[in-house]
Amino acid sequence: MKKDIHPEYKTITAVCACGSTFEIGSVLPELKVEICSACHPFFTGKQKLIDTAGRIEKFRRRYAKHYESKEEA
Ligand SMILES: [Zn+2]
Repeated sequence: MKKDIHPEYKTITAVCACGSTFEIGSVLPELKVEICSACHPFFTGKQKLIDTAGRIEKFRRRYAKHYESKEEA
């Protein structure tokens, strides 16, 4: 394998939106993620995620309306 043509692969500290950090191998100097093993529902067993943009709330409102209007019809 030739030297100097590959980006440096090293262990960095990735920071998650939930605040937890973990070591990860990457060529990037830093890494920010929105989900990790500490806050993913698959690992935590909880349903609620950190909803930074309010997208889940918007989605629920929209579909609540949708089902209401269906019942009326
Ligand atoms: Zn996380």
